[in-house]
Amino acid sequence: MIKSDHIIKWMNLANIRLDEQKEYLTRLDQAIGDGDHGINMSKGFKEVIEKIHQTDCHDIGKLLQDIGMVLVSKVGGASGPLYGTAFIKAGQVLKGKEEITISELGQALQESVNGIKLRGKSQVGDKTMLDVWEPVTRYIQQKGNELNADELVSFAREQMENTKELEARKGRASFLGKRSIGHLDPGAVSSFLLFEALCSILEENRDAGQTKEDGMAEYVGVVIVSHSHELAKGLKKLLSQLSSHVPVAYAGGTDEEELGTSADKIQNAIRSVYSDKGVVVLFDLGSALINTELAIERLAEENITKVHIADAPLVEGAYAAVVQSGCGSSLDQVIEVTRKAKSMVKI
Ligand code: ADP
Ligand code: MG
Repeated sequence: MIKSDHIIKWMNLANIRLDEQKEYLTRLDQAIGDGDHGINMSKGFKEVIEKIHQTDCHDIGKLLQDIGMVLVSKVGGASGPLYGTAFIKAGQVLKGKEEITISELGQALQESVNGIKLRGKSQVGDKTMLDVWEPVTRYIQQKGNELNADELVSFAREQMENTKELEARKGRASFLGKRSIGHLDPGAVSSFLLFEALCSILEENRDAGQTKEDGMAEYVGVVIVSHSHELAKGLKKLLSQLSSHVPVAYAGGTDEEELGTSADKIQNAIRSVYSDKGVVVLFDLGSALINTELAIERLAEENITKVHIADAPLVEGAYAAVVQSGCGSSLDQVIEVTRKAKSMVKI
């Protein structure tokens, strides 16, 4: 069953992914629009995270409506009202529900699709976000509770890639006419990222459901904190080759995309991989420690308390942590191997 906790995790992960891909989305929008899609999406979801962590809401419908309202009110451009409408409409369907099945989620998303169509006066094939939302929703409805999250990710990616060959008929890209052909639609890409994040949550829910009652994650989460966005991103990629199950998130660079660290980013990264199992944080240089400590202090107010900062070199420590966590080990066991990574002899 999907609960409000899962929706919150979904939003946390979406926020991280959209922030990671901010520049890419901007580049896509520069090619056929005005170049603000990355900024719009990352700003919007950052605001969403701030809002949903102030509320203690078990009503999934209300939560989705709140998310939609934030997107409508805080995001400029076409994508704010369109994404906002999608969440508000889904929320109306699920009002009062504290637990839903994947089939019920599918029904709610159908209302989102209807909402996007109505607000955007768009159809499938117009080269917009709808070209991902509509087929993905249909797919979720068809598969229902038999849904395979990995297959859905591939399907959603295919829909996103199909927008490349389309000619834009809605939004700013339509001014380019045939010249829009050959470019991915930025809104289709951000929609893919959103559904990819949803799939991770559904997958985690299913895996954990086999071993744990409440259906949340069963691995210690790992967070990388670095002064450099690129460095953190590269390390995450490296770690993903070791285990696809262990939740890994990173906080790299400052909010202004400069070198440095940000307590806000660290906070979001920890939240996105947090479960009862706890989280271990690895960092590169001195000031990262101060910001991590600040983030942990703030998270304690949200009852996120099982977070440990590892005294270990970043790469070796993170590597050891992911391998150990992937065995289903406890937080203490993961801390222990990171400690050993400090004295590891390399040559
Ligand atoms: P803006 O176009 O106002 O600069 P964004 O750049 O944030 O807003 O969002 C652009 C994305 O919004 C497009 O790539 C497209 O997917 C989506 N979009 C724009 N207009 C419409 C519409 N009428 N219907 C559906 N989606 C639309
Ligand atoms: Mg734009």
